[in-house]
Amino acid sequence: MNPLEILIHEMITENGPLSLETYMALALTHPVHGYYVSKMPLGRSGDFITAPEISQMFGELIGLWCAAVWRSMGKPQPLLFVELGPGRGTLMADALRAARVAPDFLSAIDIHLVETSEILQQCQRMALKDLGQSVSWHASTEEMPDGPAIIVANEFFDCLPIRQFARSTTGWHERLIGLNGEGRLCFGLAPGPEPRLTAPGEPGQVFEAGVVAAQLMSRLAERICLQGGALLLVDYGYDVPQRGATLQAVRSHRFADPLGDPGEADLTAHVDFCALARAARAAGAIVHGPVPQGEWLTRLGLYERAAKLREKASGSQNAAIDSALQRLAGEWRGSPTDAMGRLFKVVAVTEPRLSALSGFETAAVPC
Ligand code: SAH
Repeated sequence: MNPLEILIHEMITENGPLSLETYMALALTHPVHGYYVSKMPLGRSGDFITAPEISQMFGELIGLWCAAVWRSMGKPQPLLFVELGPGRGTLMADALRAARVAPDFLSAIDIHLVETSEILQQCQRMALKDLGQSVSWHASTEEMPDGPAIIVANEFFDCLPIRQFARSTTGWHERLIGLNGEGRLCFGLAPGPEPRLTAPGEPGQVFEAGVVAAQLMSRLAERICLQGGALLLVDYGYDVPQRGATLQAVRSHRFADPLGDPGEADLTAHVDFCALARAARAAGAIVHGPVPQGEWLTRLGLYERAAKLREKASGSQNAAIDSALQRLAGEWRGSPTDAMGRLFKVVAVTEPRLSALSGFETAAVPC
């Protein structure tokens, strides 16, 4: 057993089973043993690869999009240019490099990065050190100063802890984590049903509630409505309400057991875009999208950018550009590092007066 598993054992022995929300929070962000505190999650030698790590085009297009949104906000100065969970800082570095075509945007922004991991903060410092911008770090969004803000979050909401409920003949029971006969972590059900959950369901069905994510969305949408700005959220998830467990653990680019070796694997769940859209609208914000990532990037000029890069590319660089296009905008084929064009979705949440945003022109019926 690893040190975090021993600690979780002690907690269960003393106080009874843990909710999945508590377990995920411990496994991901425990101040010493949490996955995002103690590991280097990203990259080929890490556990997974994200869109900005696949190609510079991703961050570049987002940087240009943010500069355009800032213009439609009336060019407020200063603007907080915020990223939630910036990973290795690659997206922000690419965004700032591309935004050199908009020097007025670059001189208006103060960069704020929300990051729990000191290892990743260090990477972000390195990635941004030559770009000539002031950067501040915060452990949570609560610490950000006031002011108009454009906030970017790529693969951030999927790592916020969720709760799961399973249907039995007596109602919806929360799935909890306890110990089995051999003393190993295992899933079980709370003995009593959740009285507030009255939706019908078939025995055995599971549904997930991203309470932490919805609360964060409410706070950010409220802030954006009061102080101005936009939140751009890119993540994998579903845009029609659905049942079923999507919790997954990924380690060394493969799926793993979510309860095996806590703190050693990335734990995520699909984002419920409908729930987030509801929370944002309830706070008075406008929700643009969701639009599939491949479609959104294509509307922003992904293929034109690729053509531009090809002008100076060697043979192997050309192959890398082709592969990046396929992975960023191609179809999802079912492995954690495979194409993300359809499963990944893009949503923007804005103050009410930002009614038209590029990339969202013909969004499907909003959820
Ligand atoms: N956006 C990056 C990294 C995605 S991984 C990319 O696309 O490459 C998730 C990121 O969120 C990591 O940087 C991780 O350290 C950070 N993170 C996870 N949970 C967090 C939390 N509760 N608060 C702040 N940062 C968190």
